[in-house]
Amino acid sequence: MILVSGCLIGLECRYDGSAKKNDGLLASLKGSDILPFCPEQMGGLPTPRPRAEIVGGDGHNVLAHSARVVSQCGTDVTKPFIHGAMESMKLVRFFGVTRAYLKDGSPSCGLGTIVREGCQVRGDGVCAALLSQNGVRITAI
Ligand code: SF4
Repeated sequence: MILVSGCLIGLECRYDGSAKKNDGLLASLKGSDILPFCPEQMGGLPTPRPRAEIVGGDGHNVLAHSARVVSQCGTDVTKPFIHGAMESMKLVRFFGVTRAYLKDGSPSCGLGTIVREGCQVRGDGVCAALLSQNGVRITAI
């Protein structure tokens, strides 16, 4: 079972209610058992929702409670981001997930790169951080 960011397969779960469908990824996964998910929705956030960024570090720091996730309205959304990552781990454990394709740049799904103040900076999103800490092999798309 392969975990895939829902927005990459066309689910309209992004902060602005859009998708980021990746036809190449879908073609390469044809015939595979995929499990679409959206950690921000699973954390209880609505769609659409204000765009959010990690402040003071990356997802690993958020999980260690040394950084926060803040929406563009100034609301602290750290708790739903951590909750969504932990709910995602339930899927990983239940379905025995070992691989994931996650949306690059996201404060949840980004691996290696997240966006801060409109710029790409090094770091992992909150969910990507937790999945990678638990041995899931992630490809950022
Ligand atoms: S949290 Fe992940 S799956 Fe959900 S919209 Fe953002 S990048 Fe896509």
